[in-house]
Amino acid sequence: MKSIYFILLNLFISQCILSSQVQTFDFFYFVQQWQPALCDKKAACCYPTTGKPALDFGIHGLWPVNNNHTFPSFCNENSPFDENQILDLMSDMQKDWPTLACPKNNGKKFWAHEWNKHGTCSLSMLDMHSYFQVTLALKEKVNLLQVLKNAGIRPDGRSYGMKAIKEAIKNGIGHDVVIECSNDVFGNNQLFQVYICVDKTGSDLIECPMILKRKCDENIVFGDFGSDTEGSSISL
Ligand code: AMP
Repeated sequence: MKSIYFILLNLFISQCILSSQVQTFDFFYFVQQWQPALCDKKAACCYPTTGKPALDFGIHGLWPVNNNHTFPSFCNENSPFDENQILDLMSDMQKDWPTLACPKNNGKKFWAHEWNKHGTCSLSMLDMHSYFQVTLALKEKVNLLQVLKNAGIRPDGRSYGMKAIKEAIKNGIGHDVVIECSNDVFGNNQLFQVYICVDKTGSDLIECPMILKRKCDENIVFGDFGSDTEGSSISL
């Protein structure tokens, strides 16, 4: 009899430990980055060993967020990144989620960082394979470069109005987004990252429950990769 109590007690304790590791959250930020701006921001980056990325937005990450605007992070060290679970997604990962960190590498370090910091906090909704799969599917669904081009906004190094950029994206995807800017090497404010709100299943775009404050000038540069932007200053 005593041993049954002991087993039940152990089960209860392990359940408590497990459930305390499953983080809840309210929605996701799906964050895409304009890759030339990442290289420009610190004047240098390294292209992945798998080749120079196409001139496009790349995925930065899918970040669980709470309605009180806290970002849970590093939620479950018992579920470390395991590339073997996403082998079928590898070619899309290389295309749509390229690393720009130095020294040059194949991207696994960046994906592991995003999984360990953010992905482990969405385990209540998505396992590792689903987390990367839905993120890649969101990139397919939201073609920001095409949406901007449709409105005549092209990565030609010219300045465009923030209002026009926001309106073009709203017309294209049906929702407001948050835009983050950075300064290029000449000190010009430029388009850097776009935050899109997504429901907690990771599949539907939603109106953002609250406004994330990010400051940009009224007019911002939308540029190409410079000829000498690859270098050695971004590291994870
Ligand atoms: P996070 O911790 O998810 O906010 O991501 C920030 C970290 O990711 C910083 O160390 C950045 O330098 C790094 N990072 C952002 N974009 C990239 C990228 N495309 N490739 C490699 N590292 C990146």
